[in-house]
Amino acid sequence: MSTVVTISGGGIIGNYISARLHANGIDTKVVEKNKNSKHQSEKVRTLTLNPYSKKLLDEIGIEVPIAEIKYIRVIDGEGTGAIDFNSNEIHEENLSYVVFFNDLLNALQEKEVSRTIFENELIQINEDINDYFCEVTLKDKTKHSSVFVAGCDGRNSNVAKLSSFNLKSADYGQTAITFTANIEKDNDKEAYQVFSDRGIFAVMPCPLSNHESTHTIVWSIENKNIENGISIEEYAEENLAYFENKLKMKINACSSFLSFGLKNHYFENYISGSTVLIGDAAHSIHPLAGQGINLGFADADAFCEEVIEGYKSRMRMNKDLVLKRYEIRRKQMNLLMLRSMDFFVEIFRSKNLAIKLLRNYGLSGVNKINFLKTFFINHASGKNKL
Ligand SMILES: Cc1cc2nc3c(=O)[nH]c(=O)nc-3n(C[C@H](O)[C@H](O)[C@H](O)COP(=O)(O)OP(=O)(O)OC[C@H]3O[C@@H](n4cnc5c(N)ncnc54)[C@H](O)[C@@H]3O)c2cc1C
Repeated sequence: MSTVVTISGGGIIGNYISARLHANGIDTKVVEKNKNSKHQSEKVRTLTLNPYSKKLLDEIGIEVPIAEIKYIRVIDGEGTGAIDFNSNEIHEENLSYVVFFNDLLNALQEKEVSRTIFENELIQINEDINDYFCEVTLKDKTKHSSVFVAGCDGRNSNVAKLSSFNLKSADYGQTAITFTANIEKDNDKEAYQVFSDRGIFAVMPCPLSNHESTHTIVWSIENKNIENGISIEEYAEENLAYFENKLKMKINACSSFLSFGLKNHYFENYISGSTVLIGDAAHSIHPLAGQGINLGFADADAFCEEVIEGYKSRMRMNKDLVLKRYEIRRKQMNLLMLRSMDFFVEIFRSKNLAIKLLRNYGLSGVNKINFLKTFFINHASGKNKL
């Protein structure tokens, strides 16, 4: 069987694509630059999967510990505006599911280990070997041919560099910190988000068995607040009380703090010849709505559907059509999500009184208009699929 897709990057998205295509009789090869080792779970970094991403994982038999979110309350910390989301409003059991990043990565990597070449990477993509197959050269000088090359190698995609894709990027001037905390509250399926001058602060349940009081916190802070010798830990210690007060709950940090600089990026095109960008290789957004991995799953789903469709319908699929259809389905949707996140960051950053008043009315207003709320939740849940 000849390889249909060479996948650069054995992360969550690259391994998912490999597993889904393999389940449909389509051969893949994954090239991962890191060595084959289980990622120790620090039980701190989490991902929020929407119901559609979870369904995609269920379908390929991936099971990891999850915490369910049924209800989300979003609060304007500087005013009185608030908006509530409830899974009943979209007739879903839950709004989203929290998993530990490394649990999910390990499960997917284990599933695809026999199809993965570890500690290697692409150094060249040759489009011209014949009119159907292209050829990649790896660092160890071996050559492999396939119909497509999928760049699933994250934000600094090697495939994007090798194929000279046109990068657009902007720095948010913010740092995200994440840690776990013990919080006593009545309902363990609730999540909260506060937008304020002191950052965007999200509290979500955590998938730790027998530890229902453990929650995960993702907090985006303006870089200017943690300059001049102020450490992240010092800033957190000084400002946690503000969020305790807003949320009326005691928050006791119980893990180390992980931090990430926040930037967005996207490409003007996702395809070049036989090469295609998918997931964080193609785009990254602000983590405020926890949608990064869900956009990656939506990309992977569309790409797999087009390849499977093309593979079933002909002896030789129309590869240009497969890629074009994928790009049309995903590029504008991803850009819309990126622009929406940027809009939220900017209006909640604004010191302008008129904008502050508007956002207060805006949140409370949307809270009262059911069809608008349903539109937002359906979008975030992955139901609005092209
Ligand atoms: C603070 C923070 C919080 C976040 N929270 C959320 C959240 O709550 N919900 C959510 O949906 N998303 C969240 N995200 C985003 C989410 O983590 C990413 O969208 C997701 O990890 C992207 O998966 P990926 O497989 O596309 O890329 P990656 O996870 O970056 O995987 C890329 C893979 O490619 C490999 N690789 C890299 N270079 C090469 C190379 N040259 N050759 C071969 N292999 C290579 C890497 O080793 C890795 O295995 C968050 C991000 C941050 C920074």
